[in-house]
Amino acid sequence: MRLFCLSSQRKSDKLNKLRDYDGRGVFRIKKQVMTIAFDNLTMEEAVECAMAHIAERTRCRVVTPNAEFALEAKKNPRFLNILNGSQLVLADGVSVVLASRILGDPMGGRVTGVDFAQALAAALAKAGGSLFLLGAKPGVAEKAAEALQLAHPGLRIAGTHDGYFKEEAPVVDAINAAHPDALLVCLGAPKQEYFMEDHDAQLEVPVMAGLGGSMDVLAGNVQRAPAVFQKCGMEWLYRLVKEPKRWRRMAKLPLYLWDALVWRIKGGKG
Ligand code: UDP
Repeated sequence: MRLFCLSSQRKSDKLNKLRDYDGRGVFRIKKQVMTIAFDNLTMEEAVECAMAHIAERTRCRVVTPNAEFALEAKKNPRFLNILNGSQLVLADGVSVVLASRILGDPMGGRVTGVDFAQALAAALAKAGGSLFLLGAKPGVAEKAAEALQLAHPGLRIAGTHDGYFKEEAPVVDAINAAHPDALLVCLGAPKQEYFMEDHDAQLEVPVMAGLGGSMDVLAGNVQRAPAVFQKCGMEWLYRLVKEPKRWRRMAKLPLYLWDALVWRIKGGKG
């Protein structure tokens, strides 16, 4: 990874720049896309930030907003606060990048949740760190764990748990008992963000990332679009063809871009 190749002095300069916190430990390299402040970071930088939190044992909540998140946040102030109060706010969808262009302050690119999970797993494997996988239907997290360990030899899986539980406290206890360095929370939005916020004080894990349907992809149960679709930002089209019943959710993408256009015309008001 690019950052790991830097000399140690340059690496720590870069880290200091990345770690320009405000009082709550929130990174300052932000790009405002309407009401959500995103971290304009590359994948390598995002993982470097997460790993810095693991080294320091400080909390890093990672969220991955897309068009659907933004539209939910418009009517849900609690959700918006959780997103903006997170230490890493990654632009998961191409919609966010397009909206930032419409607003005239373009983001560098997107950092998808699945790619972040893979890159984090690689960094953890290298550092001897461990991961807890929470979410999706029974058996999926175990399958994802096997696939991750195969792809990243040396990665320690601290534990797994499905996402269909009635009581949250025993799940929090199981996570704490496993002592992971990082936790992937794949319960769908906003449930995963509520889980992370509700148990912020109890969870003894430095990095926790809300990654939606990523567990199904990591397990190989859902196929990602071929690279050519990913490169030109048309992953959503591939997904729509594969899962036409998602059209209602997909229809939110143009709505979000429309919001950005109205925002730009009105000069910063939705
Ligand atoms: N899920 C879960 N518990 C729940 C509801 C959902 O573990 O109570 C899982 C679901 O099985 C799926 C993921 O959360 O793996 C949400 O997937 P979705 O496709 O909605 O996420 P997206 O990536 O589109 O945000």
